[in-house]
Amino acid sequence: MKNVIVVAIDGPAGSGKSSVSRATARELHYNYLDTGAAYRALAWRCLADGIDAHGPTAVIQSLLTFDLSIGIDPDDYFVRVGSVAVTDDIREPRVTSVVSAVARIPEVRAFMVELFRRVIRGSEKDGIVVEGRDITTIVAPDAEVRILLTASEEARMARRSAELPGASAEKTARELSSRDAQDSRVVDFMNAAEGVITLDSTELDFGQTVKAVVSLVRTGTQH
Ligand code: C5P
Repeated sequence: MKNVIVVAIDGPAGSGKSSVSRATARELHYNYLDTGAAYRALAWRCLADGIDAHGPTAVIQSLLTFDLSIGIDPDDYFVRVGSVAVTDDIREPRVTSVVSAVARIPEVRAFMVELFRRVIRGSEKDGIVVEGRDITTIVAPDAEVRILLTASEEARMARRSAELPGASAEKTARELSSRDAQDSRVVDFMNAAEGVITLDSTELDFGQTVKAVVSLVRTGTQH
């Protein structure tokens, strides 16, 4: 099997992880895996089937028939559950508000970690950029490049508000910090684990952040 270079990127909501990871993958001709989308797709499925996201037994049961497809080509990104395209729907606030409850279930996490490792192993390009909350620590602790992408709370809230025009900035900020608080009880993505490089993007624009990540990858993969 081909040895795939893994670039693991973790960080809190609003750090710009997804767009930065995707642009980095494009630049390096790597694949891109958005792990948050998998948790969101499961949360979407629970809502669609009337399963209480806070009831672990039913959520765990639903994993048995969870048929997820995620596009890993940065130029062809899609998320499907069964034959339903959910790429946009999984970003809806109703999904965001229950995703942390689903992601907190240990059986769900074990299922997802296996799934992500399978996707990484099957990647046909030289490398893959994998982004989430536990990639540098749990999913791919041996990744060639491990980055924690952070930004001040203020910058993250401003970025998230810009992504959700029309929503109240105050409400967006409240939701973001409540989700971070819930998520960080399960995985610590606010502090870099040993060997993980922290990249603070507070003072960087999008292009500068991508450039910094690409340069970390180039340095980290020179043998
Ligand atoms: O990154 P994104 O905001 O799309 O992630 C959605 C949710 O999925 C997070 O709030 C978190 O609950 C969960 N998640 C996770 N581990 C990951 C990626 C996402 O628990 N590796």
